[in-house]
Amino acid sequence: MRRVLLVLFSCFLSTASLFAQQKLSPHWEELTADDFHRAIEVSKGTCVLPIGILEKHGPHLPLGTDLLNVRYASLHAAEKEFAVVFPEYYFGQIFEAKHEPGTIAYSRGIQLNLLQETTDEMARNGCKKVVIVNGHGGNEHLLPFFAQAQMASPKDYVVYVLDGERNRPGGPTKKSTGVDYHAGENETSNTLYTHPELTHIDRAGRESGADQKRQNLPDFLYTGIWWYARFPNHYSGDGSVAAKELGEWNVEGWISTIVEAIRAVKADDASLKIQNEFYEKSKHPLDTPQ
Ligand SMILES: [Zn+2]
Repeated sequence: MRRVLLVLFSCFLSTASLFAQQKLSPHWEELTADDFHRAIEVSKGTCVLPIGILEKHGPHLPLGTDLLNVRYASLHAAEKEFAVVFPEYYFGQIFEAKHEPGTIAYSRGIQLNLLQETTDEMARNGCKKVVIVNGHGGNEHLLPFFAQAQMASPKDYVVYVLDGERNRPGGPTKKSTGVDYHAGENETSNTLYTHPELTHIDRAGRESGADQKRQNLPDFLYTGIWWYARFPNHYSGDGSVAAKELGEWNVEGWISTIVEAIRAVKADDASLKIQNEFYEKSKHPLDTPQ
């Protein structure tokens, strides 16, 4: 009887450890060193770097809204299509909100160097495919430039950038009709879906998120002050009409896009080869056939 129990117990233990072995957390920081090694194998070196920011989000959403939402979407995507997800990263471009409380705006050099050293370190640990998932509108110029800058000198990894997709057409009818760029109906709905406990919808009407149109320039002229000129409260849209159903539609769509991106990246065996060909040729441009 004792022996039977012992056999049963060791069976249970081996099943339990097998289960623990099979189920890897997508959170980089939750893995043991040994599990990390296996996670890199299972993910085929595919890692996700969700980028958020700390900035005011109207009068009603948390400072970390973009970080919270991009991590929610990335981690749910990595549960469906396994990839290793880097810890909290909020060191993006947000100079335009320096006048508001709680904004962390690192200098231009730090933003670029820190991102480069982060992806370099990820790659040194086996992440040969780094998918940057952007959760913040202010990074929309920074990240394509960063990806382009990878061509400057040889790298043994590829940077992929997934921008946008934080809202999508179709789905539940929207109630607001004006601009909706920041902490408005879409983003408030998304946060109502991902973090309802942090969404203070009753405060959304305390400030105006209307476009104040204080600059009179044609669309083809760009200035850094354009955002502040239009939205000095760092609020664009109307968060008071947000609905969880719209958030579900947006966020679930975003998750599907990230899943699709991870799958495409895993299957991509061309980019690194082409990069290597380019780096090699760029060492001696005069030998490139004309
Ligand atoms: Zn945001």
